[in-house]
Amino acid sequence: MKITDLIRPNIKVLAPYSTARDEFSKPLEGAVFIDANENPFPERYNRYPDPHQRRLKALISEIKNVPCENLFCGNGSDEAIDLVFRVFCRPGVDNIVAIAPSYGMYSVCADINDVEVRSVLLNEDYSLPTDKILAAADEKTKAIFLCSPNNPTGNAFAAADMLKIADSFQGLVVIDEAYVDFSEAGSIVEEALRRENILVLQTLSKAWGMAGLRLGLAIGSAEVISYMSRVKYPYNINQAALDIVCEKLEKTKTPPFLEELKVERNRVEAMLKSSPLFEKVYPTQANFILAKVSEPNKAGEIYDKLIDKSIVVRNRDKVALCAGCLRISIGTTEENTRLEAALKAIEAGL
Ligand SMILES: *Cc1c(COP(=O)(O)O)cnc(C)c1O
Repeated sequence: MKITDLIRPNIKVLAPYSTARDEFSKPLEGAVFIDANENPFPERYNRYPDPHQRRLKALISEIKNVPCENLFCGNGSDEAIDLVFRVFCRPGVDNIVAIAPSYGMYSVCADINDVEVRSVLLNEDYSLPTDKILAAADEKTKAIFLCSPNNPTGNAFAAADMLKIADSFQGLVVIDEAYVDFSEAGSIVEEALRRENILVLQTLSKAWGMAGLRLGLAIGSAEVISYMSRVKYPYNINQAALDIVCEKLEKTKTPPFLEELKVERNRVEAMLKSSPLFEKVYPTQANFILAKVSEPNKAGEIYDKLIDKSIVVRNRDKVALCAGCLRISIGTTEENTRLEAALKAIEAGL
């Protein structure tokens, strides 16, 4: 199989929008740019941003040790997820396979693009049901979506299982590593770059602390990346985000507060384990913890009581394999202390 054989026929022949700066991009310091109908009067943001995000990609390339041609920058990883559908999946014809429970955007993007989702439940211990995933795919399956560490379960999957899926499947395997920086399991990027059919998603929204700037990454074969780049909006990353992200990445090459967050994660884990409100605290490789309440039908009640104390967690009670579960993100030391006090109050019936 060649990955390019899976591209939607209309995308394969697409003539992408050519920006004014594509047609003339020679670096001409001090030139008169009257080619893009911009307002020439000097305002910080009067010019269109670089559609190829060269400065940003050079920085990320160095940090992630990935060549620029294997790198896509999106308006959050959510853009990269949507582009997988728009590049590969024929609406009303093709399907994707996704694990459940997992991140909600895979099926929302599938629904928007009129693409069938074949959900495969994880094993009871949240490990990857490799054979069931492969069995769910047919000749119309263009992509399999995995997420490791997985949201909301918090566990990372065995690399061998994910690679087995990639090596047995005639389509694209998307591996969402939004939480990879928190994980002991490490990234699959190196293996991914040895294959045409793995696309790894990462983001600056979590460990890097830039959720508000909307910067997501896709790392994959140069072919797949080039099709995604052709289909994206030309100016998908705005100049303000480019400026701020580049400035931050020039200053620091590692995610900030990682050690603090890991210390706090241990603390919150111990706090939940010692609380009679919870019967199970799932192991985590992410910056959140999934915990099952002791009285399985009381997840909503504990959620409401926490809200009453101005603490907002995520109720995952209605999610497959997560009955009775709350998902709790790791906050600052002070925030986690407030969580602890709130749990103690609820335990005491207050
Ligand atoms: C938070 C999260 C993302 C991040 O999405 P962005 O659009 O980059 O903010 C991606 N995947 C998963 C599984 C997440 O939980």
